[in-house]
Amino acid sequence: MMLKAFLPKSEQRYAALGAVIGALFPAVCIFYHAVIADAGGGWGSGILTISLVSLIVMPLVCGMFFYQRGRAQSCLLDELEQRRKTEENLSRIVHTDQLTGVANRVALERDLCELLVTGSVPAGRTALLMLDLDRFKFVNDSMGHDTGDALLVALGRRLIQAMSGLGAVYRMGGDEFVIVVAGSPSEGKLDDICVTIKGLFAEPFQLSSAQFWTGGSIGVAYMEPEDQTISAVLKRADLALYKAKEIAGNSHMVYAPEMADEATRKGEIEYDLSRALAAGEFYLEYQPIVGIESRAIRSFEALIRWHHPDKGIIPPDHFIAAAEKTGLILPIGNWVLRTACLEAARWPAPTGIAVNVAGDQFKDRAFVPHVKACLAEAGLAPGRLTIEVTESIFLADADIIEESLRELRAHGVRIALDGFGIGFSSINNLRRFPLDQLKLDRSFTQTMLGNQRDAEIVDIILQLGNTFQVSTTIEGIETEGQMEFVRALGASEAQGCLISRPVSAEGAIAILQREPQRTVERSFG
Ligand code: C2E
Ligand code: MG
Repeated sequence: MMLKAFLPKSEQRYAALGAVIGALFPAVCIFYHAVIADAGGGWGSGILTISLVSLIVMPLVCGMFFYQRGRAQSCLLDELEQRRKTEENLSRIVHTDQLTGVANRVALERDLCELLVTGSVPAGRTALLMLDLDRFKFVNDSMGHDTGDALLVALGRRLIQAMSGLGAVYRMGGDEFVIVVAGSPSEGKLDDICVTIKGLFAEPFQLSSAQFWTGGSIGVAYMEPEDQTISAVLKRADLALYKAKEIAGNSHMVYAPEMADEATRKGEIEYDLSRALAAGEFYLEYQPIVGIESRAIRSFEALIRWHHPDKGIIPPDHFIAAAEKTGLILPIGNWVLRTACLEAARWPAPTGIAVNVAGDQFKDRAFVPHVKACLAEAGLAPGRLTIEVTESIFLADADIIEESLRELRAHGVRIALDGFGIGFSSINNLRRFPLDQLKLDRSFTQTMLGNQRDAEIVDIILQLGNTFQVSTTIEGIETEGQMEFVRALGASEAQGCLISRPVSAEGAIAILQREPQRTVERSFG
């Protein structure tokens, strides 16, 4: 220690050692000479002189020699240390997400592969939590990518802090994070961890000058002993995440084997869809919408069905999402619009036709011209067509949607906001977008008579309709009690099995002919 204090560099200590070794031989010679001399013998003065000179020269020579050896060795050690640091840096860069500073996908693959290779999975079931932000696309699209990045950075920080001692955090890319929880956590413990993660969204995120609230959905899966690759467990977590996202948002789901079966079924549907349109397997049914006071038919809503050669009749809820995912919603949606307009042209004016339109259809610049072309081809007055959209379409590309809606409305087409009450139910959407009609989601109709809160929501939505001067349609009316309830609250129109189930094209004509006492009347707004 003392030596290191005086001679901090290793080559200095080598030089000192060389000097000591170099001095040793002449010193022994001089000592020997002195002892022999004492005994009366002794070397000649020449040898003594050489020894004395060596005592000066040898330490210098040996010191220099050792110094050079020491220097070469310390250079080598320095280089090795430098390399170790460079490798460490490289590894950190390769395994760290540059935006958020948390470990990245490569690190996750490395760590999970280690578990698979060391075979520690059977002994301790590691769990994987896949977290995906709700509404991240909305942030990116409407507030810009810098704001989206800031949200991810802030979330990364919150996750690292909250998961300290509980699990390792990784960012997979985009708005997807993974938390690995080792040590056979029970489902109860995973539930607690999910609740903790969801709790991170209770506080708003401060993004540039605004505060932003969001939520996250989580899919949970365990690593299994039979997993050969990490993609197997990632796929299970992804399936659970997909299921969690189907629930409102800010929710979590643990993987169950039925999810894989459902995914396979959906995969088959996606594959089949591409064939179905050309094979003419789609057809439309029409459900009447009546004025509440008069019960006169005002319009019909066109509802698509798929007559599958093996699976029978498939309802739209089972394939519209797949059609959106595959992009087939564009040709299918165009077919629905044209078929519905041509059919409505057979009805007595001013009976209207309502057509559901998915958000992706608006992204197609050819959509508005297609609507106009369908109306022209059918010879249908634009005021008889209502386009039904859901609020989710306002989340992305709001400017394009607004422009298209305004153009359609300027042409005379009516716009209805479908399924209002579920989803975001934003008053701002009512202010910003040009609307003629609000359609209250049928889930409220089912519960409003037995649930005070839902009854109040229906009342509030009807008042909103009044405030914004749009007509209000109540979906899913099944009983006279429901009809009377919404009539008393001032709703304009009703749709549901009480009036009629969806019927075929011929069935719609039969209804119109059979009930002449129900004078057809025009929707207001
Ligand atoms: P939606 O626009 O809200 O359509 C009303 C749904 O409520 C229809 O289900 C209809 O059959 C059902 N319904 C009507 N009356 C009653 C009732 O009294 N009780 C109950 N429980 N249900 C009733 P459907 O036909 O299965 O359609 C489901 C959804 O699929 C539609 O909801 C719409 O969002 C979508 N959809 C249907 N056709 C199309 C289409 O051509 N294009 C697009 N993009 N979506 C479509
Ligand atoms: Mg609808």
